[in-house]
Amino acid sequence: MRDRQIYDLARIPTMQRHDLIVIGAGPGGYVAALRAAQLGLDTASVDEHDRLGGTCLRVGCIPSKALLESSHLYEQARRSLQPHGIEAGDVQLDLGRMLARKDRVVEQLTGGIDGLYRKHGVTRYRGRARFTAPRKLVVERDGRAVEELEAGHVLVATGSRPATLKGVEPDGDRIGTSTEALAWPEVPRMLAVIGAGYIGLELGTVWRRLGAEVTVLEYLDRILPGTDGEIAREARKLFEKQGLKFRLESRVTSASVRKNRCRIELEGGEAVEADRVLIAVGRVPHTEGLDLGAAGVEHNERGFIEVDEAFRTSAEGVYAIGDCIGGPLLAHKAEEEGIACIERIATGWGHVDYAAIPSVVYTHPEIAAVGPTEEELKERGVAYRKGRFPFRANGRAFTLGETDGLIKVLADKTTDRLLAVHILGPRAGDIIAEAAAAIAYGASSEDLARTCHAHPTLSEALKEAALAVDERALHV
Ligand code: FAD
Ligand code: AMP
Repeated sequence: MRDRQIYDLARIPTMQRHDLIVIGAGPGGYVAALRAAQLGLDTASVDEHDRLGGTCLRVGCIPSKALLESSHLYEQARRSLQPHGIEAGDVQLDLGRMLARKDRVVEQLTGGIDGLYRKHGVTRYRGRARFTAPRKLVVERDGRAVEELEAGHVLVATGSRPATLKGVEPDGDRIGTSTEALAWPEVPRMLAVIGAGYIGLELGTVWRRLGAEVTVLEYLDRILPGTDGEIAREARKLFEKQGLKFRLESRVTSASVRKNRCRIELEGGEAVEADRVLIAVGRVPHTEGLDLGAAGVEHNERGFIEVDEAFRTSAEGVYAIGDCIGGPLLAHKAEEEGIACIERIATGWGHVDYAAIPSVVYTHPEIAAVGPTEEELKERGVAYRKGRFPFRANGRAFTLGETDGLIKVLADKTTDRLLAVHILGPRAGDIIAEAAAAIAYGASSEDLARTCHAHPTLSEALKEAALAVDERALHV
């Protein structure tokens, strides 16, 4: 009955046909659409938001990094300039302007994708897509069908949304997810962050720098699950020095609000009081309302769409990439998958080198990694050699006044092939690019150690860590 209502042809314009329809215009979907257009496919992109760029550009990577940058400058202006002989006087925070700048950054970048679509000839549909058959979709706006689409190939790139926690309901004000925490109108005096993953730590850091007293509540006995244990332990010490408080092994069971005060209950522990609560307990696939069943697309018990190595789902002609298929929920991983999937459709070739996908936490100092953690290598029984180099022995780190942290290089014990690099330190997110390239090209630690690195740069610490694999580091 419901279907008949939606398919009332009087309400639907004629069926639009394309070679490829991409559902979702996040970094996975929009990059895939651009590549498909480059390869000559008549490509359409559907997204429910007016602004293109998905979670990453609207409420993820970009606005969070804009606020991390602004809050870091604020903290530097207040605390780090004096040793340089700079007196900044009475430094004031204008939160409204800081948030407005973040919004402008988002606006410019999302607008840029619109321009790229026009340049590449990608057709854009605004609205929510819903499958009616494997390669047929209806696009709805305000609950009304506005377009009916059909294609030779459909790529699902619908991303993810914040996970919720039973007993901790976002209330549109005091209790929110990362989306709300990017736009709070005032600095909370006390902030409780639930979850010590990268999103909780990045946004917790932003508000701490702006003046909040931040307590991070984490169910596990460590922060940053998935990060190398040694690096996470060192990072925790630094974050504690900066003023973040951690309550580990603390499972949040509920949160309530009374007169603008939040009370967070912990299993077997003393409750925590705060002005605001940030729920940062992970992300879940965003597939509700898509009617995957109508297309015959299967998903696993956690809701992630199941795909094979060519990103084919269980339905002929339907593919999926990015956050909605699981794995590391990262923008660049989504992009790589989008490109590989499209190239495979158009040329028969295309793959993602999952061993060389870097990840970065944009705290200060940054944390970056590529390849397995030391714990994972031990679990897998891989014999490896390790080289470590501290930033306190790097000249450039000294000139920056940022000597905290280290680089750790892990190489195969027999072949010396580079397996992983873990960094805690200044601009770790930039240094890791060299390590990712080295791993992608199958380099050895000796290759890294014999590559000339400019002096004085932070990247010399990577060379030294590679030398340390063979106990040949020069500056420690
Ligand atoms: P998304 O970006 O989620 O895009 C999917 C799009 O599809 C969305 O616009 C959605 O509204 C739309 N959509 C969903 N269903 C439908 C439908 N039925 N019809 C039409 N449209 C639909 N990653 C990093 O790599 N680096 C970072 O620094 C980083 N920081 C982050 C900070 C925060 C606060 C958050 C929340 C995330 C961050 N991420 C970061 C993760 C990153 O945002 C995601 O990994 C990335 O956006 C995934 O891209 P995607 O294309 O798979 O999906
Ligand atoms: P990530 O999945 O990396 O975003 O991290 C989410 C973090 O939230 C993980 O470290 C989880 O252990 C943590 N977490 C999940 N549920 C709870 C809970 N009920 N109380 C405290 N921490 C939680």
